[in-house]
Amino acid sequence: MKQLLWVNGEHVGTENFYTLTSPYNEEILAEVAIADEEQVKDAISSAEHAAKILRNMPAYERAGILERLVSLLKEEKESCARLIALEAAKPLKAARGEVERTIMTYQFAAQEARRLYGETIPMDAAPGGDGRVAYTMKEPLGVIGAITPFNFPMNLVAHKLGPAIAAGNSVVLKPASQTPLSAYKIAQLFEKAGLPKGALNVVTGSGKKVGDFLLADDRVKMITFTGSPEVGKHIREHAGLKKVTLELGSNSAVIVDEDANLSKIIPRIVSGAFAYQGQVCISVQRIYVHESIYQEFVEQFVEEAKKLKLGSPLDEDTDISAMISRDDVKRAGSWVEESIQNGATLALGGVEEGTVYHPTVLLNVPSDEKVSCEEMFAPVVHINPFSDFQEAINYVNDSNYGLQAGVFTNNVTKAFTAAKELHVGGVMINDFPTFRVDHMPYGGVKMSGMGREGIKYAVEEMTELKLVSFKLD
Ligand code: NAP
Repeated sequence: MKQLLWVNGEHVGTENFYTLTSPYNEEILAEVAIADEEQVKDAISSAEHAAKILRNMPAYERAGILERLVSLLKEEKESCARLIALEAAKPLKAARGEVERTIMTYQFAAQEARRLYGETIPMDAAPGGDGRVAYTMKEPLGVIGAITPFNFPMNLVAHKLGPAIAAGNSVVLKPASQTPLSAYKIAQLFEKAGLPKGALNVVTGSGKKVGDFLLADDRVKMITFTGSPEVGKHIREHAGLKKVTLELGSNSAVIVDEDANLSKIIPRIVSGAFAYQGQVCISVQRIYVHESIYQEFVEQFVEEAKKLKLGSPLDEDTDISAMISRDDVKRAGSWVEESIQNGATLALGGVEEGTVYHPTVLLNVPSDEKVSCEEMFAPVVHINPFSDFQEAINYVNDSNYGLQAGVFTNNVTKAFTAAKELHVGGVMINDFPTFRVDHMPYGGVKMSGMGREGIKYAVEEMTELKLVSFKLD
């Protein structure tokens, strides 16, 4: 199959294509178009034209397009889940979950399209401001450049397209090279849902090249990026006066206090550590357990992790499948080896098997090991003991990242202390850090990024506030 670009409501061919293969069995899935500079410029021109149409489109019509998209997605749930499973090697169970969340995300976007409220400003609060009525309006920015990662190829695209269109913007989308098909599928469904031509353009090719074309073009008013911190930093440094939101990585941690109910929380933490092979930005990577229950926790955790079933992403009962690339399997293996050489204990896994890396549990890992201080992004987790709750908070904060953290405790004072002191974008009391529903504000501090997603919050980022003041005499 040849996958062409999607520009101005049409499939557009290119001179060059790359071969997309399945991460699991390396079968060829498609030949995917590589956009050149002119084609990216054409995509921006058509988005610029469509931005004028969307800006003037009534909110109920924008909401209607998003609602029709939701209906179409509901009809095509299974084919969308299979596409994600094929190109991302996401086990079907998880891929189906992603499609359900994608539907919710667009539903929230349809609702937010109708809620672009401003506020009235009491101008007479300041001397000289009296005799006026003033209010604010939220206006769309125009053309938004969206760059997305491989790990949630439908839902993280939805977190960009949904709020952009709800707010009346147009988009040039550059999906991850490993997962372009899900993005083109959504473009096709948006067209059926009645989105005007050019309001969504999809261009594929090297992230560096397409990203730089988007960054260099002044007609693009905002870059919304989800991906690795290195690329995020590059974007921030070259964005000039464009708005930028960055949803980046993390090495998320969870604290398990002495009163935790282990049989209840361990299956949850195991799923947070290993879902989608640990390739989730809020995967559990570091677990800090009170020393009084440490041994018991480790034993139960390892037993639970052993139950995970490895296999093809298309098998109904697979929990763990291939990592996104063989390089990532090698990277995971070498980081784990290095940590063992430096004093960590291997409690489970550490096995490379072709494109799959087995679920791996390490104990007593020094905090400067890569498996702890870098983003692991693999099915590898470590468990360390703590003796004092404050010490556990310090361990969590001893990180360059700060996306979300989880704390299991029944002690209200400790819970409030954790909520106040943890330096992250979101604190989940009595849950894992991997918890997310799609309307909550979501984003990080430190190297985990800037700006917030969650439809209402993304709409804020994707609009400009305009003040209107009427002098009454
Ligand atoms: P990535 O390598 O940074 O790629 C993300 C996107 O950026 C891809 O579309 C990529 O294109 C593009 N890109 C690469 N180099 C670029 C450049 N110089 N300029 C502009 N764009 C460029 O990340 P990934 O491996 O796909 O995803 C994993 C990362 O995403 C992890 O760090 C994870 O934590 C993070 N993430 C964060 C969140 C969050 O919400 N905070 C959610 C999910 C994932 P190519 O594919 O063509 O290289």
